[in-house]
Amino acid sequence: VEEAAHDKIHINSPNVKYTDTHIVAQYSYQTTSVHRDGNKVTVTPCTMEMTFRTERRVPRLGVMLVGWGGNNGTTVTAAVLANKLGLTWRTKTGVKKANYYGSFLQASTICLGSGLEGDVNVPFCDVLPMVHPNDIVFDGWDISSMDLASAMERAQVLDWSLQEQLQPYMSGMKPRRSIYIPEFIAANQESRADNVLSGTLAEQVEQIRADIRDFHQSSGVDKVIVLWTANTERFCDVVPGVNDTAKNLLAAIQAGAEVSPSTLFAVASILEGCAYINGSPQNTFVPGAIELAMQRGVFIGGDDFKSGQTKIKSVLVDFLVSAGIKPTSIVSYNHLGNNDGKNLSAPQQFRSKEISKSNVVDDMVQSNPILYQPGEKPDHCVVIKYVPYVGDSKRAMDEYTSEIMMGGTNTIALHNTCEDSLLASPIILDLVILTELCQRVTVRPQGEEEFQSFHSVLSLLSFLCKAPLVPSGTPVVNAFFRQRASIENIMRACIGLPPQNHMRLEHKLQ
Ligand code: NAD
Repeated sequence: VEEAAHDKIHINSPNVKYTDTHIVAQYSYQTTSVHRDGNKVTVTPCTMEMTFRTERRVPRLGVMLVGWGGNNGTTVTAAVLANKLGLTWRTKTGVKKANYYGSFLQASTICLGSGLEGDVNVPFCDVLPMVHPNDIVFDGWDISSMDLASAMERAQVLDWSLQEQLQPYMSGMKPRRSIYIPEFIAANQESRADNVLSGTLAEQVEQIRADIRDFHQSSGVDKVIVLWTANTERFCDVVPGVNDTAKNLLAAIQAGAEVSPSTLFAVASILEGCAYINGSPQNTFVPGAIELAMQRGVFIGGDDFKSGQTKIKSVLVDFLVSAGIKPTSIVSYNHLGNNDGKNLSAPQQFRSKEISKSNVVDDMVQSNPILYQPGEKPDHCVVIKYVPYVGDSKRAMDEYTSEIMMGGTNTIALHNTCEDSLLASPIILDLVILTELCQRVTVRPQGEEEFQSFHSVLSLLSFLCKAPLVPSGTPVVNAFFRQRASIENIMRACIGLPPQNHMRLEHKLQ
């Protein structure tokens, strides 16, 4: 049945069919197989025929945030409400209007090609049917009992005249009681913890599962995604017999062994069939949690929102290395004064962040053996300081020193100031909306019977994460534009379009 009326974009091709329920696209996936023998490299192009199938019906999405009462949790909830209600508010620089700037799905475009009017750019979110952020229903947990209106005030992120308008909508939102294991977050968080579950670990996981079911049923949403935006935990030890396999992890929970709250939430979500995303740097996804997600066919993604300094790093180092310039030293200072900064002022929690921030240049460095010997890396130092006065307005100062031609040195210094939570909130929306879309896409390579989903470890989310989680044994890509192109080209494949190649031959030939 040809029924394209609801789609903003219609593909006019014999390879693309619109059924009542699906967009079905025949696609030629072109790759290469490369063989290196001494100095000689042999490249063999290969083409794989496959069918992409995308469900057209967009479900009602519920999102449960762990750390709902924090700066990110309150800001994203408030921003969605303000957009949905079409709110405007006055500030000393004029009237502001709610928007979704910073969300690549809502506020950036992709070029579909050119027509009589020149290039045609459409919002990313129009390429395939996907959830609109205004339609997301939020719920969540926090170890602090404060209602969302008061917690928004505590966060000191949004202008007061906007907060005043939002208060009636948010004061009735109360975070559910959460799992609190003091040794995983900084001791300075203890005074917040007045909303915590008791009982054995197994009982607490059961309660989280019951909360997910309760929200699912009472809110009327079709599906739920759970996202950790609670405080950064210290790393947990990966211990054989405890968290190395799914079976051992489940047994460890029954036995009350050491399992971090973020991993307990991951297990609860996976057991409820809900995708789980980790927005913080700790190693939530111990091998047992990954195996459990794979066994249950549930998406997991992370780690750590790529919002500011690291985002720039994944652009700047990509630019330098791909221009043939050799970064030799990268020094990154931060100071911030929000509760995240307070938590990160403790050494073990800072260490999680330091690890997450440290590997982001590896793939770019390794891609260029002209500049770097095997194993050689630029010096890379990350410092984070807690300065209460600046609140959520994080300052990031970076110095990139590179070797240029003939022994020359190039130093780039950057100073970046902005509200951290206003960078993270649109990323939270992109993460859940992209994950939900991936739940509706399946692929069938030619000759196979069954359509298959993406791997449970949803590496397509890498673009939005500082330390991308990828399936074991597959390469990690940190470079910003490669990550973006991956999403763009996979979405194009879903509607039977070839990858964006930027060749523009139509303008280059006689
Ligand atoms: P925040 O401290 O304001 O919020 C975290 C919330 O989590 C708090 O309300 C706290 O009470 C709650 N919490 C702590 N432990 C909990 C538990 N076990 N269960 C439920 N709730 C718990 O911090 P934030 O600025 O909103 O950042 C949240 C997380 O996102 C941090 O880990 C931070 O490192 C990470 N992150 C933030 C950004 C950004 O730009 N804002 C970027 C990358 C990562």
